[in-house]
Amino acid sequence: MVDEVTGMRGIRLADKDTYTARFNICQDCCNFMYGSTCSVCGCVMQVRARLADGKCPKKKW
Ligand code: SF4
Repeated sequence: MVDEVTGMRGIRLADKDTYTARFNICQDCCNFMYGSTCSVCGCVMQVRARLADGKCPKKKW
């Protein structure tokens, strides 16, 4: 599912370092559930954190 979404035409992706930094913050966050999901926005973070325009709803990244 991650590859399907991030591989869609017209989707701008963050660079790898940005994604890694964002995802590390999520992994330490009390709102991160099931190894994938933000309990605030309901998004799968392996997708949202890869989007160039992705944002944390709690402004942590
Ligand atoms: S997007 Fe923000 S609030 Fe959601 S899990 Fe990541 S750091 Fe936490």
